[in-house]
Amino acid sequence: MEIYLDNCATTKVCDEGIAAAAAAMKTTYGNPSSLHPKGVEAEALLTETRKRLARLLHCAPEELYFTGSATESNNLSLFGAVGAYPRNGKTVVSSAVEHPSVENALKQLEKRGYRVKRVFPRKDGLFYPEDFLSQLTPDTVLLTIMLVNNEVGTVLPVAETITRAKKNFPKLLCHVDAVQGFSKIPFDLRKIPADLVSISGHKIYAPKGIGALFIRKGVRLAPLLFGGGQEKGVRPGTESVPLIAAFNEALKLIEENGNQYLEHYRACNQYLRERLQEVPEVIINSPVQCAPHVLNISVPLSGQKGTAQIFLEALGKKGIYISGGSACSKGELSHVLSAYGFSKERIRYALRISFSKDTTFEELDIFAETLKEEILRLKAVIK
Ligand code: PLP
Repeated sequence: MEIYLDNCATTKVCDEGIAAAAAAMKTTYGNPSSLHPKGVEAEALLTETRKRLARLLHCAPEELYFTGSATESNNLSLFGAVGAYPRNGKTVVSSAVEHPSVENALKQLEKRGYRVKRVFPRKDGLFYPEDFLSQLTPDTVLLTIMLVNNEVGTVLPVAETITRAKKNFPKLLCHVDAVQGFSKIPFDLRKIPADLVSISGHKIYAPKGIGALFIRKGVRLAPLLFGGGQEKGVRPGTESVPLIAAFNEALKLIEENGNQYLEHYRACNQYLRERLQEVPEVIINSPVQCAPHVLNISVPLSGQKGTAQIFLEALGKKGIYISGGSACSKGELSHVLSAYGFSKERIRYALRISFSKDTTFEELDIFAETLKEEILRLKAVIK
């Protein structure tokens, strides 16, 4: 038995994606920059994928660039933006709960002399546009906010914040790390005047190692890499046609079934919240307004010095896979949960459960029952 409930960390690649990647390696193996028919065939796959992603994001295909990951899209956005607009200011505004691929890039910017202002959630666990807007000054070159937090699932007020920020500071560049929000909550670039948006393939049933970056028409980025001019020189390097072919299939699934997937994540979330109400030791960390595919809980066992690792191991032995806080923050006290002001014990014992399009209620029942058993067993050991 295998029950995979760690879909915020990564998802299983859809069968259609695996088949398309194999076909791209066996048949459509040309270099998309080559001018002969094999190259043209590969280039056509890139164009199809760009068009599909553009339809989903409501932007122009020419505004989309393939990268090797969302980590790369985020780094390219942050360093690329400040590099291209050196005279626009030396301050960057962000949230205190960003993914390490933004947070660690911000730390690098601090080392290079930039001032970074981080906005915290309020006591209710939510973020408010005013808290970002009040940090902006004429010296702010970039505002970077994630759409959905990857540990708790909090939805940040990206649309309102960016719309109002742009009104006050028309030259301000705005970046959104949309990795956990894309296809999980509504996101429409006709309504959100963001300049830069990062997307990752492997969170949406495509393979690891493929990302995308939206760059609004007219916005310049200083590239991180220099090479053969692919992706209009913004991200040179031969595009990974097999990964893009698989990404295309994953996007096709979202185009065709996205609304059903959303309903399904919502149903899973509600069902598990109800099931966990039967377990008094469980505290739910994700506010109800969160993105539907993730549920963060804590099981603080008083008297125990340990961490959520004991649950991860016990559940793992039984074939149930979840995450402790976030897969990216192994061993450290999560900066995200710390920003929410939770007690150390609650942070140490945080577990993240995240659903996929294929998660079943039966799997959630088994997870809830097994968690209950493990809590009882551990409590008996403590006594
Ligand atoms: N941003 C967020 C919010 C994420 O959750 C992740 C992955 O966990 C990333 C960025 C990085 O994505 P990738 O694994 O494609 O580099």
